[in-house]
Amino acid sequence: MNQTEILQRVFGYSQFRPGQEELIDGMLNGRDAFGIMPTGGGKSMCYQIPALLLPGITLVVSPLISLMRDQVMALKAAGAPAAYINSTLNRAQMQAVYRNLLAGQYKIVYIAPERLDYPGFSGVAERLQISMVAVDEAHCISQWGQDFRPSYLRIVNFIQQLPYRPVVSAFTATATTQVRQDVERILGLRDPVRVVTGFDRPNLYFEVLRPESKDRELLRLLSTRKGKSGIVYCATRKKVESVCQILQDHGYGAACYHAGLPDEERTQSQGDFLYDRKPIMVATNAFGMGIDKSNVSFVIHYNMPKSIEAYYQEAGRAGRDGTDADCILLYSGSDVYTARFLIDNASENEELDEAQREIIRRQDLERLDAMVGYCKTDTCLRGYLLEYFGQKHPDICGNCGNCTGNYETVEITREAQMILSCVKRIRDKLGYSVGMNMVGNVLRGRGDKRVTETGLEQLSTFGLLRNRPKSQVHAMIEHLQAEGYLLEDSQYHSLQLTALASQVLYQGKQVFMKVKFEPVSVLPGVTAQKLTAEESELLDELKELRGKLAKEAGIPAYVVFSNATLQDMAKKKPKTMSQFKKVSGVGEIKAAWYGTAFLKLIQRFRDAH
Ligand code: ADP
Ligand code: MG
Ligand code: ZN
Repeated sequence: MNQTEILQRVFGYSQFRPGQEELIDGMLNGRDAFGIMPTGGGKSMCYQIPALLLPGITLVVSPLISLMRDQVMALKAAGAPAAYINSTLNRAQMQAVYRNLLAGQYKIVYIAPERLDYPGFSGVAERLQISMVAVDEAHCISQWGQDFRPSYLRIVNFIQQLPYRPVVSAFTATATTQVRQDVERILGLRDPVRVVTGFDRPNLYFEVLRPESKDRELLRLLSTRKGKSGIVYCATRKKVESVCQILQDHGYGAACYHAGLPDEERTQSQGDFLYDRKPIMVATNAFGMGIDKSNVSFVIHYNMPKSIEAYYQEAGRAGRDGTDADCILLYSGSDVYTARFLIDNASENEELDEAQREIIRRQDLERLDAMVGYCKTDTCLRGYLLEYFGQKHPDICGNCGNCTGNYETVEITREAQMILSCVKRIRDKLGYSVGMNMVGNVLRGRGDKRVTETGLEQLSTFGLLRNRPKSQVHAMIEHLQAEGYLLEDSQYHSLQLTALASQVLYQGKQVFMKVKFEPVSVLPGVTAQKLTAEESELLDELKELRGKLAKEAGIPAYVVFSNATLQDMAKKKPKTMSQFKKVSGVGEIKAAWYGTAFLKLIQRFRDAH
């Protein structure tokens, strides 16, 4: 079989995604390979297909041991001989894996990096024909990456002590030059085939909301997504727990995950989510690396993350099967303070000296600024993200909150003048500047303690924006910041006028702002595969059958077939086994295992309609 046949017969996909074929060709010709593709871009396929075609076995180094089981399960479900080696196996299981390895029963073996130099394993490795070492989440080898893992450095030693050098391939979704260079240099890649694919994920809808109450907004967002699977990311452990509680109180099946929970609880939560026992996962950023649950249909950020890199990776866990999915960020100004606090109090990396730490801190603050810019921009959100990753893009994507007709442009010149003059008058009166909250309180006529103590309620601008909601006043202040009329001091968070402000104050320059006029945040995406009412009905039945088969086999539903596959099935309504195999995501093995059951259901459905 050649690579296309494997793609079609084993994995059931009709064509390669961008970059896959080139990388696979390289590895099959004995070259090293380095694939940089966005989350959900299909990196696993890039090493799994050569693994099945090369002689001997492929070792896949992967950082997240809890997820190896799932990946191996998915491979086995497709009929590919695979196994994993990590600390979750007991002695007897480990011995069995070693025995089978030596008997040549596996083509793909996932291994945790710290296992590579265990004596037990090195003894076995010496006697194996290792054709390739594939390093997944390769950015873990770099200190500049988000998730530096010192144990990744062992990969190099392991490769060096093999009797001959296998093909080495590396895969990551982190695009920065520094990380790329580190990966190539430290892993010692030899003239690799390099593929950097576009970072766009057209099926993801992006939106930033600025709700009065995040809890209420979250509940509203979830109420229109009943039964769908999604992740809610929060900045702190405490938030994770309180948000999870609120969701449970409102009857949602929500699991909770953060680094402070005991191991068993985390494993339990993860399983509940992966197996769809609980559709919603509330978690800190500790959750998700290596998660490839393909039916995640939304990722909501309750708090703004620290960087665009982090955001894109977390949000990118939605819609991995290519169906429409939503990435919604609930922003508030206080998120910026939390993020700054987390940066300033980051756990100290022992291996770094004071100067290096300061460099990293400054880098983190720059990354944070870019993230804040995303929350405040009123241009295309996708465009903003792609720009950040250095990729060309059209001005308007048509599938983000800022591009869809959900917003209208309003003139806020008068309000802008009020705000700017209020900032000026406060400074004139006090001799120093204050932050957004206080400016907002004065404008909204809130005589709180600090306002009355400083006599600010006597200003002529006091109460000028009396009946406006706080979120709206803050949004306007932030807009003036984004437009360069106001400058926020990065240390004290106080607001000052810039030179540009006088154009608005004294020269009648108009100010425009995009505002949302409808509380509808989800619009059908541009890539929607529209189903008729009848097809949706069939889809529900297909899902039910999938659930039943998954339960019987003790595997998560998406390992049987992804949502995208079931949608395609509902559209194509195959009558014969050969038609069934033409459904996207149906390979030989799955067709053999599940074909009859699904064909029967579809036939029954046809007869009834
Ligand atoms: P990542 O690049 O983030 O590691 P994965 O390898 O987990 O992405 O792939 C994401 C999803 O895309 C999986 O469900 C996978 O089966 C699917 N996929 C990969 N390659 C193809 C393809 N050529 N056609 C259709 N789906 C694909
Ligand atoms: Mg992956
Ligand atoms: Zn857009």
